[in-house]
Amino acid sequence: MSDGDSGSPEPIAGPATRFGRPPAKQAANSNGDAIIDRFGAHLGHALARRLPVRSIALGNERPIVSFTFDDFPASAHEVGAGLLEAHGARGTYFTATGMLGEANPLWTVAGPDAVVDLYARGHEIGLHTHSHRAVFDMARREFEADIAANRAALRRLIPGLTRETFAYPYGFAGYARKRQLSRLARASRSVQPGVNAGRLDLDFVKAVELIDCGLTTAALERLLDEVVARRGWLVFLTHDIAAEPTRFGASPDLVTAALEGARRRGIDILPMCDALDRIGAA
Ligand SMILES: [Zn+2]
Repeated sequence: MSDGDSGSPEPIAGPATRFGRPPAKQAANSNGDAIIDRFGAHLGHALARRLPVRSIALGNERPIVSFTFDDFPASAHEVGAGLLEAHGARGTYFTATGMLGEANPLWTVAGPDAVVDLYARGHEIGLHTHSHRAVFDMARREFEADIAANRAALRRLIPGLTRETFAYPYGFAGYARKRQLSRLARASRSVQPGVNAGRLDLDFVKAVELIDCGLTTAALERLLDEVVARRGWLVFLTHDIAAEPTRFGASPDLVTAALEGARRRGIDILPMCDALDRIGAA
């Protein structure tokens, strides 16, 4: 897969105002300011994509696939978790605690009980900010407070939670926030498509959207072949799981095809935290 060197932001996952493309910075008071803010956000994202803060060589002896769910809709818990478990696998659920239980035009976000239940069943719970704002839109202290609120809310639900991973809301990074995340999260997942192989950028882990409207069966098979050939780490990213998913989600058939394709090839299926252990990340 290409690393997408166009310099433009990655495809942004997530619907509606609190999920979709983040608005241009609200402080803009003229067209000129808006253009500069937008340029700054794109530049910050491009720098974050290209400049590692923490980079390690992948040390896993076997190829790995991870399934991650952003935001996450009730169906990712009610349907998605069971699909993974039927294949002896567990996933990673990135949780924006300010949205727990909230209904939006596309789905209902899972509530606190789902977070507790998933953790008890062996799934990983990850950070996704409390506010679900794009990280480039927050100053250093504001972002620190937002992550702290996200972490505190999750740890109230799960007292044993530790060494959390993070996923960038909307997939948008920024170099300053990426540097900050290098000491706030064990690793951070982007939406930069591709297989992680060779060296891993811990603060900008690549991920491929597992969505019915964007991933063909042929492309899925190629990705699974590539992760085997390169002994890499393939991270899938999705949202709702339904027979007729939104454009951000996957059908049970697609999830099952990914699980069975991985199993057929002898690929380990692990939540991100366990994948990081295998890879040799601290
Ligand atoms: Zn999100």
